[in-house]
Amino acid sequence: MSLPPPANPYAAPAADLEAAGDDAGGMWRDGKDLVMAREARLPGRCVRCNGAARARHAVTLSWLPPAWYAAYLPVLLVAVEPGAIIALVVAPMVLALARRRAQVELALCARHHRRVELAARLHRWGLALLVPLFVYAFASIGEGIPHAWRLAPPWAMASFALAIPWGIAIGLLRRLASARRIDAAALRIRGCGEAFLASLPPPPAHRG
Ligand SMILES: [Zn+2]
Repeated sequence: MSLPPPANPYAAPAADLEAAGDDAGGMWRDGKDLVMAREARLPGRCVRCNGAARARHAVTLSWLPPAWYAAYLPVLLVAVEPGAIIALVVAPMVLALARRRAQVELALCARHHRRVELAARLHRWGLALLVPLFVYAFASIGEGIPHAWRLAPPWAMASFALAIPWGIAIGLLRRLASARRIDAAALRIRGCGEAFLASLPPPPAHRG
């Protein structure tokens, strides 16, 4: 007796993906960007390669209206008012709160979905290995453990440096789409593949 393969908890029901089909309502292509109504559902084709979608991957996009960077302007007053330096601390907090966020379910083919899953595994396993290593390296530098057990300083530094390639690898594997603009009604998304963009209608203003 053979058991059925384990179900992928992230996969959308196949019927659902088929129903979405080629319907690209509420969205269009504008240059390299995908513009979509907030409530629109992406068609059942991979946003990267336009292949048949095998899964939907929820991502939270965020975007900050550029005018918010003015929150840093008080720093310019630092010559006359040294206390203005506090803007360097306050501005990032203001900007973090002001970021607009939107969740999108990106349709992905099997290949591109595997990439996202690999990034998730790399993130999990990397944390599981690196956090204890960092604690050990930190304790070695701080001489918090017996001498014989200590990691030599160059090795301790090298283990901290491991976080850099790890972070870059996850970032590259995860990189699918980013927001170019988020409004109350619409999202402008960069990062879709050319074949996928080519399958979308032009902006409404360009239609005959
Ligand atoms: Zn794909």
